[in-house]
Amino acid sequence: MKITVSVIKADVGGIGGHTRPSDGLLNAVKNIVKPQVRNDGKGLLIDHYIGYCGDDIHIIMTHTKGVDNKEVHQLAWKAFEAATQVAKNEGLYGAGQDLLKDSFSGNVKGMGPGVAEMQFEERPNEAFTIYAADKTEPGAFNYPFYRMFVDTLSNTGLIVNQNLAKGVRITVMDVEKGKTAQLNMWEDKPTLEAALMYPGRYVVSAVHTKDNLPILAASTDRLHNIAGKYVGKDDPICIVRTQKDFPATEEAGAAFSNPHYVAGNTRGSHHMPLMPVKINSPASINFAIPIVSSLVFSMHNGKLVGPVDGFGSVDWDYIRTIAVKRAIAMRSQGFVHPATLVPSELEYAEGYRARMSVLWSKMRPIPSDNATKQFQKPNHPQQHKPNQSKPQHPKPIHPQQHKPSLPKPAQTKEPTKSKPAEKPKTEKQTK
Ligand code: MG
Ligand code: MG
Repeated sequence: MKITVSVIKADVGGIGGHTRPSDGLLNAVKNIVKPQVRNDGKGLLIDHYIGYCGDDIHIIMTHTKGVDNKEVHQLAWKAFEAATQVAKNEGLYGAGQDLLKDSFSGNVKGMGPGVAEMQFEERPNEAFTIYAADKTEPGAFNYPFYRMFVDTLSNTGLIVNQNLAKGVRITVMDVEKGKTAQLNMWEDKPTLEAALMYPGRYVVSAVHTKDNLPILAASTDRLHNIAGKYVGKDDPICIVRTQKDFPATEEAGAAFSNPHYVAGNTRGSHHMPLMPVKINSPASINFAIPIVSSLVFSMHNGKLVGPVDGFGSVDWDYIRTIAVKRAIAMRSQGFVHPATLVPSELEYAEGYRARMSVLWSKMRPIPSDNATKQFQKPNHPQQHKPNQSKPQHPKPIHPQQHKPSLPKPAQTKEPTKSKPAEKPKTEKQTK
């Protein structure tokens, strides 16, 4: 029997900030979705589960309508609209934050909510895990996905499972251009690695076996691409099928055991580690450490059993401690990059540009000819042109164009035995 698992999530309001939805919001979503589930199979949905990770509500739905189904998407949209109304009535923070369009137009993709969907022939004992994250971006999953499907040191199943050992096909999306590339393991491994270096731009959107069986689907929307500016981080969610020909449930889970640094947290403008948390956890008010929760399900004929709280066992308390230590370490350097994101990724870019405008209004050319030449080809990531009198706003650039400023050789030469060191031509050059 072909079943579709649709996971649609949105942040439509939080209590006292970007913490968690209120019970009123969750009830509003349930009241819209639950009536569509019928035990006789004649409803729109076979089953559902509603929960949250931080301030994001996720609606997990099973049905036979296929992916991108208008009725299913509309149901989720209506549920979030109803919750938004409650959020406004309750005075919650960021009411309706992720609903970026006024009216539904057939598919919630591109309207604000995140979507991960997958249709497949259900196995007799179908197993899958939903990973829901908050205070980060879709690229936050690049590293754990790499560990699951490419890194044999993290996942022995890639060696001893004959199907996985053949390698998988990974779909990488360029979230700036809206294009995808199919990369085959193992021949495309270095190309995949090059793409995954920049999680803000290239993200894994799907994984299939070489026989075209779907294993993974992930949300990839970037809210600022929809709204034209940052309106909040696009907290990702994904479905990973496990067991048999796919990674074991615990091989997939263990990919989150090394809390790596991701973009997000407070003001969506910093780097902090991705901390595994229990199901239905509020966001941390310790600078909003990025979080991820794990919902482990079994399914038969579309009926769900679960979830088991994947990160609820005691060993994950230790991983949480590691994440907190890394978070404190990164926060210890305050606003200094890489504690903060590069300017093109800052959520509060307008405020940053305002500050930089003041800075550039105070900039003056350096009088020395030689010193000015040094700045004629700016290699700052944001391509600032400090010798222009008018303040320039930084423009986002392609990661490949990002040329980290390497220290230029000093104007003075090293003294050698054969040639005495040249004196600096002017005092200013060496300052
Ligand atoms: Mg929020
Ligand atoms: Mg959120």
